[in-house]
Amino acid sequence: MAVLADEVRRCTRCELYKGRRNVVVGEGDLDARVMLVGEAPGYWEDVKGRPFVGAAGKLLDELLAGIGLSRGEIYIANVLKCRPPKNRDPRPEEVEACTPYLDRQIRIISPRVIVSLGRHSTRYLLGKAGLEFSQMRTTHGQVYQLEILDLKLLLMPTYHPAAALYNPKYRQIIEEDLQVLKELLRREAIL
Ligand code: URA
Repeated sequence: MAVLADEVRRCTRCELYKGRRNVVVGEGDLDARVMLVGEAPGYWEDVKGRPFVGAAGKLLDELLAGIGLSRGEIYIANVLKCRPPKNRDPRPEEVEACTPYLDRQIRIISPRVIVSLGRHSTRYLLGKAGLEFSQMRTTHGQVYQLEILDLKLLLMPTYHPAAALYNPKYRQIIEEDLQVLKELLRREAIL
């Protein structure tokens, strides 16, 4: 991971390197059985070089604590490693340029479960397994068995915590999805 992180920090594969203060590679337990994949760094992540340290990150910590999970037990990465201007959506060419890094992270961590946060990471991961993504409304809280990158793993999509900052109804939905995750971890003796 250290070699990969060094490479990512020097990356110029897409235009986003021009505006970044820091690359946000990811962080957490390299032996984690649970990996979270978000979208892209926001303002504070770009400033600090760490994933989910802004408002959405604080909420994420709270939501994880609700099922007894802490950052130390998981690994968190994003689809994009550099902040898009004004936090706009990732562009297809940026996703294409950046996701070989995410793929390598997934191989290194080889988690049993990935929780995709929001539509960008969900679309990418389902697409990798040849599955079509239409909308979060029909995919969140479901458990998919994926065979990707020579790994067999489970994917559970949920909404991005930033959605819950704008609309409180999403907080409850994420909480319900995380109960699905908690039960899955128990049933499969993953944690
Ligand atoms: N949103 C994300 O998707 N990732 C981060 O690291 C922070 C906010």
